[in-house]
Amino acid sequence: MADPRKAVAENVDGAFFVDSTCINCDTCRQLAPTVFEDAGEYSSVCAQPKNDSEEREAFHALLACPTGSIGTRSQNKAKSYLSDFPLRIDDNIYYCGFNSEKSYGANSYFIEHKDGNWLIDSPKYLPYLAQKFKEMGGIKYIFLTHRDDIADADRYAHEFKAERIIHKDDADSQPDSERLIEGKDALQFAPDFKIIPVPGHTRGHMVLIYKDTFLFSGDHLHYDRSRKHLAAYRSVCWYSWPEQRASMARLAKHRFQWVLAGHGNRVHLNEDEMSKQMHELVEKMK
Ligand code: SF4
Repeated sequence: MADPRKAVAENVDGAFFVDSTCINCDTCRQLAPTVFEDAGEYSSVCAQPKNDSEEREAFHALLACPTGSIGTRSQNKAKSYLSDFPLRIDDNIYYCGFNSEKSYGANSYFIEHKDGNWLIDSPKYLPYLAQKFKEMGGIKYIFLTHRDDIADADRYAHEFKAERIIHKDDADSQPDSERLIEGKDALQFAPDFKIIPVPGHTRGHMVLIYKDTFLFSGDHLHYDRSRKHLAAYRSVCWYSWPEQRASMARLAKHRFQWVLAGHGNRVHLNEDEMSKQMHELVEKMK
């Protein structure tokens, strides 16, 4: 629970506040951009919610915050917004919420699919969320983009008898994974699902493209909301920046309209604009 005595000085007066335990993961700024802002080393409340919709977004952020660093001094209505999760993004695609500190607050996603549902990276394990997944038909596959964002994948895998898919080069982080992907070649895993190894951020990083429309990009690629452009994080490229650039160039040959990132903003662009920005990014990464 957030502690009002530890509230950061940058918060504006009012109900919502961020305390000093914030790890600056960006989740709240993605979910409630009118309420939370980047204060340098952490987030702060830049404006209190002005209407019901902004209040709902602020409670979504409070629930999703990996460190419980967001609090409210007025009535805590978080419980009444719990049932919004997982949050529907589009079609049968959901953002799970409940980001885990184990993955530095990375986003995870859920695809409801007639041939079995997919979890992409893992949220915190919560009985509530597990029950929701059960009601939605369970989990058949857990796609792990890379070693950093596995969080509680093992608990979800055991509970749902799901198959974890991870690249061999990152598999020591989840050694009992059921499916290992090798090499750098794109793989049509199932009719709607394409797996593409993209070494760079880590040696075994992979992305998933669903229906040639939704790219689950892990930490390989995200949308920079201040520059309004696709971007990659060089400062947290743990394995090889030249490899990440080469991977980006290979990925630019594929079609998609959404980027759903582990860290950083998600974005929906038309296919031409997405392709243009991908090629511009590859140039910038030189
Ligand atoms: S979601 Fe929580 S930890 Fe992440 S930036 Fe916001 S307050 Fe900080």
